[in-house]
Amino acid sequence: MSRVYNFSPGPSMLPEEVLRKAQEEMLEYRGSGMSVMEMSHRSKEFEAILNGAASLLKEIMGIPEGFEVLFLQGGASTQFAMVPQNLFGTNRKADYVETGSWAKKAIEEARKYGEVRVVASSKDKNFTYIPNLTRAMVDANADFVHITTNNTIYGTKYTAVPDTGAVPLAADMSSNILSEVVDVSKFALIYAGAQKNLGPAGLTVVIIRHDLLGRAMPATPTMLDYKVHAEHNSLYNTPPCYCIYIAGLVFEWVKKQGGVAAVEKHNREKAALLYDFIDNSKLYRGTAERKDRSLMNATFVLPKEELTDSFVKAAAKEGLVSLKGHRSVGGMRASLYNAMPMEGVHKLVEFMKKFERENA
Ligand SMILES: *Cc1c(COP(=O)(O)O)cnc(C)c1O
Repeated sequence: MSRVYNFSPGPSMLPEEVLRKAQEEMLEYRGSGMSVMEMSHRSKEFEAILNGAASLLKEIMGIPEGFEVLFLQGGASTQFAMVPQNLFGTNRKADYVETGSWAKKAIEEARKYGEVRVVASSKDKNFTYIPNLTRAMVDANADFVHITTNNTIYGTKYTAVPDTGAVPLAADMSSNILSEVVDVSKFALIYAGAQKNLGPAGLTVVIIRHDLLGRAMPATPTMLDYKVHAEHNSLYNTPPCYCIYIAGLVFEWVKKQGGVAAVEKHNREKAALLYDFIDNSKLYRGTAERKDRSLMNATFVLPKEELTDSFVKAAAKEGLVSLKGHRSVGGMRASLYNAMPMEGVHKLVEFMKKFERENA
């Protein structure tokens, strides 16, 4: 067996320990006589898996009382519709911050349901930074404000949670949830597709403040109403059972690493290793502004775009895969999610040095 270092933006690496545990329990889950994949979602065993995963997430993220954890499907992209459908119940107005492709998609979707104002944007510099957002800029009559805490494609992230006053703050945290300590109480709603830092694709995690339940627009489909899922403990219909099980193993793994604070420290060390090298290199150039650089997705370019192809191919030969950047930025992107070990970043930097010597 030979496992590569997978720098994919998502689906991405999972901790090897989690995969091994899943392998061990594949045919028979802890004396149940069956695989989690074969289990009724109404069984005692599965309910314990689901409740265990939810309470572990609450524990490691420090989710305060008054918030609900939901395990849904449809990816973060379905949340682009669910958030406005559920939160537009009062004034049908929202303020969105435009920080990249995912934010733009969220904005376009929300416009189907109400009045959306782009309150801040970094479009003027191809989304290379996080625009300032102050409480004074926010429409006090908006039903909510929406931000993307980490911009997977452009490699930027918020370094502080914006203060939106009394207006609920909703966040797409798909690519940086569990990567750093977050004060959940500053948010009203957090959502994340699982395939970056939480588990396999197919699961979407939503963390929502109780008072936002029950405000959905009248035509909201039952399956898209947060309140329905909250009232049924994410078991209104068949949830993505196996993904929830794996996510639970990932939460356990995070706890074993010393929790989110320890994982954040490790992530900062990994990112620093790569960024310090890029900053001191004559060949590579980082594309995001230093102050707003992502810990999860490092974007960088070569002086000639033609070199990118040979970089990506040569890296793959060394077992460093999925380093091609998104077409809207070009160049390369190394995604350093929680499961990427330091060793993988060391190998990448060593490869980059060698490539620089050969192409300077
Ligand atoms: C990957 C990603 C999405 C899309 O997620 P899906 O689960 O594929 O819908 C949305 N937002 C951000 C920030 C992402 O990184």
